[in-house]
Amino acid sequence: MPATKNTKKELSKEELIEKILKLKKKKNAVILAHSYQDSEVQLVADFIGDSLELSKKAAATEADIIVFCGVDFMAESAKILSPDKKVLLPEINAKCPMAAMCDTEGLRELKAKYPKAVVISYINSSAEVKAESDCICTSANAVKIVDHYKDKKIIFTPDKNLGYYCSMTTGADMILWNGYCYVHDEFSVGDIFIAKHENPDCLLLVHPESPKEVLEKADFIGSTSQIVKFVEENIENMNEKAGVIIGTEIEIAKNLQLRFPSKRIYPLADHAVCVQMKSTELYKVYNSLLNEEYEIFVEEEIRKKALKALNKMLELSK
Ligand code: SF4
Repeated sequence: MPATKNTKKELSKEELIEKILKLKKKKNAVILAHSYQDSEVQLVADFIGDSLELSKKAAATEADIIVFCGVDFMAESAKILSPDKKVLLPEINAKCPMAAMCDTEGLRELKAKYPKAVVISYINSSAEVKAESDCICTSANAVKIVDHYKDKKIIFTPDKNLGYYCSMTTGADMILWNGYCYVHDEFSVGDIFIAKHENPDCLLLVHPESPKEVLEKADFIGSTSQIVKFVEENIENMNEKAGVIIGTEIEIAKNLQLRFPSKRIYPLADHAVCVQMKSTELYKVYNSLLNEEYEIFVEEEIRKKALKALNKMLELSK
């Protein structure tokens, strides 16, 4: 194991990018960046997107190393799908607070109380929680998965807002874990009032991790990639007064503004920043490749159970 090196102050952004790209090739690594990552980090990525989509793409490569620029549960999902690859998380403290809100002990107690209930867990959960679940869902397919099980009682973890959205859409009888993503949960009717007041002809697009009073006022509800797709398909046809207000992590609105500079694209609120996502910086990506840090492990028994729940989702979302 080489001595750990830290390059924070030694190299410029351009030097770091050059070195990362060389090292990536030399070590046969693939770099994944979640779409909430800083644009600087996205520059060195082979793939940019949602967590599951990224893990699936990495699994299909011949790479020996996966560097996941995201948070802990994403790197675990990559490991679940690619057990023979070395999976690295460049910032060891990049942990999703929502995933941490659901613990296996509490979930087991709930399962014991409702032994006939089906457990559906959002992909934004730990490997242990996934292993306790019957099926996984993403924000893009949650409604479809819940709808499949709607004749049974459902325990849904960890996001109460996404769970609420699914129960309202499908009519399913659901017990919602009391977790939430602080980035989306902090959106309020006040944010909408201000954004709509400034841009009255813009459509409001929101992520289903947002609270119900925000969802109720949305013109379109969708996952990050569904919001991006909606903009790609509609923005060119919008007149000069029309546009979109983006109710998800701020990086999405910033990227869309760069891609469509002449169009009216606004974030719902400037406070929608995921601090944990933004804690991955370029020099940490370089250190990660250089020192092969921080390796993510998932116990084999847990990995197999979590994979079963993930595969169930893939089967149902075909
Ligand atoms: S945006 Fe929300 S769900 Fe995603 S990593 Fe940050 S806290 Fe977790």
